[in-house]
Amino acid sequence: MIESFAHLDQLAAGRDLADVFLETDEQEHGIPAAQILAALRKRREVMRDCIERGKGGGQSMGKLVGNEAKLLDEAFRSGRTFLDPLTIKAELYALSVMGENSRMGVIVAAPTAGAGGVVPGMLLALEEERNVDPEKTVRALVVAGGIGSIIALSANISGAAGGCQNEVGVASSMGAAAVAYMMGGTPADSIQAAALALKNTLGLVCDPVGGLVEVPCVKRNALFAVHGLTAAQLALAGVKSVIPMDEVVEAMVRIGRALPRGLKETAEGGLATTATGCAIGSRLKDEANQRRAERAAERERVAHERKEAVSS
Ligand code: SF4
Repeated sequence: MIESFAHLDQLAAGRDLADVFLETDEQEHGIPAAQILAALRKRREVMRDCIERGKGGGQSMGKLVGNEAKLLDEAFRSGRTFLDPLTIKAELYALSVMGENSRMGVIVAAPTAGAGGVVPGMLLALEEERNVDPEKTVRALVVAGGIGSIIALSANISGAAGGCQNEVGVASSMGAAAVAYMMGGTPADSIQAAALALKNTLGLVCDPVGGLVEVPCVKRNALFAVHGLTAAQLALAGVKSVIPMDEVVEAMVRIGRALPRGLKETAEGGLATTATGCAIGSRLKDEANQRRAERAAERERVAHERKEAVSS
């Protein structure tokens, strides 16, 4: 088992990082590398399909979001964007995936559904914009997963456990390591990229408005996809995190414990308790009560009709 990032650094020096994770999985769980790669090829396809669907937009379940990807896509196509295409596509693809998630479409949780736009946004935008072989993207997904699994040895990957740093922060860190790998970086570069991304998300709270994975989640994924690309770029240029990755993860766990309950997915703090957040929360509650009352009335009507039919 790869116990820590320090251990990974030692184990992977001079080797292909994806191979290190694949071999470890084979030794530990008896799953052949070919089987893992085949499964990840399918995941990449699901990510691609989901991005294509998501670009079309559509209202979310809670009606708070939905057309962000469509708007950015239209602006991009008509030349109304000012950032470079890689950045725009990373944002666009992250928004597309999260739009689909908000409509209960099929996505790949990476590592969670709420943070599911970051990794595909970064990797698939890079693949397209830098003509990366799709097979390299598949191997980069192995790297992303491997990084996430080492973090998960000490941290619970959920906003409820430690805030959004544990979800979107971890996704950004996984994606940064994978991007460094795709761009020809060494395992040490990937670990540095992961550390730079994660340490700069520390303290990020989980404050979903109305308790739905819509606001701020959808747009947050787009912003942290770009954050991850930036971290990978810095690492590839030789910029190093002064705090080693294992210690960054430890800090994340401590911060997560210190965060009040209201900032850990309860919708009882942060953006969820702004005036607008509260108004939306009340509306959603009223609508849910209304639906419950309608369902109860329908059940009563059906029961009444059955009774009438039996007695006649
Ligand atoms: S704010 Fe909370 S629910 Fe939304 S993505 Fe972050 S951790 Fe997930």
